[in-house]
Amino acid sequence: MPSVKIGIIGAGSAVFSLRLVSDLCKTPALYGSLVTLMDIDEERLEAVYILAKRYVEEVGAELKFEKTKNLEDAIIDADFVINTAMVGGHTYLEKVRQISEKYGYYRGIDAQEFNMVSDYYTFSNYNQLKYFVEIAKKIEKLSPNAWYLQAANPVFEGTTLVTRTSSIKAVGFCHGHLALKEVFDTLGLEHNKVDWQVAGVNHGIWLNRFIYEGKSAYEKLNTWIEENSHNWKPLHPFNDQLSSAAIDMYKFHGVLPVGDTVRNASWRYHKNLETKKKWYGEPWGGADSEIGWKWYQETLGKITDITKKIAKFLIENPKAKFSDIKEIFGQEAKDNELLQEMEKILDPEQKSEEQHIPFVESIVTGKKERFVVNIPNRRIIPAVENDVVVEVPAIVDSEGIHPEKIEPMLPERVIKYYLKPRIMRMEMAVETFLTGDIDIIKELLYRDPRTQNDGQVEKVLEEILSLPENEEMRKHYLKK
Ligand code: NAD
Repeated sequence: MPSVKIGIIGAGSAVFSLRLVSDLCKTPALYGSLVTLMDIDEERLEAVYILAKRYVEEVGAELKFEKTKNLEDAIIDADFVINTAMVGGHTYLEKVRQISEKYGYYRGIDAQEFNMVSDYYTFSNYNQLKYFVEIAKKIEKLSPNAWYLQAANPVFEGTTLVTRTSSIKAVGFCHGHLALKEVFDTLGLEHNKVDWQVAGVNHGIWLNRFIYEGKSAYEKLNTWIEENSHNWKPLHPFNDQLSSAAIDMYKFHGVLPVGDTVRNASWRYHKNLETKKKWYGEPWGGADSEIGWKWYQETLGKITDITKKIAKFLIENPKAKFSDIKEIFGQEAKDNELLQEMEKILDPEQKSEEQHIPFVESIVTGKKERFVVNIPNRRIIPAVENDVVVEVPAIVDSEGIHPEKIEPMLPERVIKYYLKPRIMRMEMAVETFLTGDIDIIKELLYRDPRTQNDGQVEKVLEEILSLPENEEMRKHYLKK
């Protein structure tokens, strides 16, 4: 049995870590492996470590765990390093958002056309981008043969930055394409009979191929839009795959935007809460409105709290089992997403659908599987530069990643009017980070429809750069 070492950075992200642990338990081909959980938050780390260890014992999987607060421990001798860390956490993102809103930038300066996702900061996220590069450099030095799996956002800017500045094997992952299932179910399509492909960049992918039983399935989608779309209502803030925004984007571009791409539209759908509600549905106005994002943050908070409580309970009750937890935590557990998730995690037949562990398995054992990956373009989408990371389907085996030929190619409208402007913003963020030239962020804001005058730009940047955690960013950006 091949045994490997997997380092997870930012392992305190409870649901994410437990999904990986559960997937590992359901992958006997990787038994014997060592998982190093790394986080700077002692309490979160301890909670995930206890949960992981107890879960593995309970299901009898042969996996070893260790925990550490030291980054190098997670990297040294590693075969795979998964990064899910968010430097500064949601607290930093909210601070920047509040400052931005004070100066008239609704939802923050990082919310830009084609990048509205509320934890996907690219311009004011210097510390996060710096951490990506630091990890990559450490891998280059300590474990040059290891794979780096980018799960932390921004995946597009992060994977592009890492692949441009280091020689390591890097790949970015996102679960956005799973939203296709909703389309298949709504249209009554058997999933394994759909011939589909998506292509684009992270949070900007489009359904270029959609065939069912030899015929274009877009005809079925058009019929659904005509007959049923007016009855559509979101079940939760993230339920937007068939929203009015998605359909409007489809009508203009000629192919369907998939997953988080629907959130990443133009200002037409995002101007204010009222506009967001019109396009993403009542009552939330989508995941990235002030209401939708509050809902998400509260959910994350509840998950973190109950993770800690369960870990404490397991320490105090060494004989307790995971299956007891629902009884013990009563209503609190029933309402909590983590416990609902726990049922899935405990189900021996179900994997999480995250791609990280299946990817590790394919690389280690050679088992050929299809993934949607973020990798440097290298002529996959000919109109895009080769050193830009694109998100495309690929077959993975022990030889590495083999991207599929994109067929048919994305429509010109997607390339010219969506991907190119989004890639330009990625380039602006990466260049600002690398050169420290703040004029690039200023230029971005001068072009921003929310900017009324130059003073507004100066003031908002000055206040963001004055935050104590941005001392280094300030020195780097104002060094001219
Ligand atoms: P979170 O803040 O709850 O968890 C992140 C963890 O990172 C925390 O435990 C924190 O202590 C830790 N951390 C912070 N600084 C660190 C450092 N220097 N070293 C090690 N660990 C550190 O955040 P979350 O909501 O779980 O999101 C984590 C990341 O994953 C974000 O970037 C988010 O945008 C991203 N994300 C990606 C996907 C995807 O499909 N790719 C989906 C959801 C979220």
